[in-house]
Amino acid sequence: TNFSDYALSNDLLKAISMLNFKNPTKVQELVIPAVLEKKDIIVKSQTGSGKTAAFAIPISEVVNWDENKPQALVLAPTRELAIQIKEDFFNIGRFKRLKVSAVYGKFPFYMQERELKQKTHVVVGTPGRIIDHLERGTLDTSMIEYLVIDEADEMLNMGFIEQIETIISNLPKERVTMLLSATLPKELETLCSNYMNDPIYAEI
Ligand code: AMP
Repeated sequence: TNFSDYALSNDLLKAISMLNFKNPTKVQELVIPAVLEKKDIIVKSQTGSGKTAAFAIPISEVVNWDENKPQALVLAPTRELAIQIKEDFFNIGRFKRLKVSAVYGKFPFYMQERELKQKTHVVVGTPGRIIDHLERGTLDTSMIEYLVIDEADEMLNMGFIEQIETIISNLPKERVTMLLSATLPKELETLCSNYMNDPIYAEI
């Protein structure tokens, strides 16, 4: 498979070639077409498989640039991962001038609030700080169509499941949900069956 086999714009293909990605990885072969077809997907895979680009490529493609409100929300267990994901989105979306914000704890709230007031297509964040923004009304979720739950087993281990459920309850029902995890304990299977719609299951 080649990246040009997918329905991707030149802006995306140019960025992918600048990143020196020659061919999609296995996880990208499974996730990119699924997300472009608006299907929910559960991905059991390790880090290092190219999983970030697997969701960042199709989401960057489908985002409507003219819409100012966030259209995709990515949940990550740590600020380091949130920052890494933001950078990956930036690189993939650079020619589309994609706007990505990262929100995480131990960082001034008002600066994130200011960023969220600007045009933001994708918001990446840790669950606790995202809930803070929801409670203070500084994160508008009304246009969110894509939800990514990354490193879900890590978030489970850190005790974030209830927070994830609270966040999901604030999102539009009509959406595409992706869950990525190295392992799939029972709690995550329950989360998937409660909040996903007939998901594809992919194991890499
Ligand atoms: P991840 O699994 O998202 O942590 O990605 C692991 C590494 O693989 C990152 O450094 C990516 O930049 C790189 N990568 C992702 N997709 C590809 C690809 N299709 N070809 C080559 N490298 C890639």
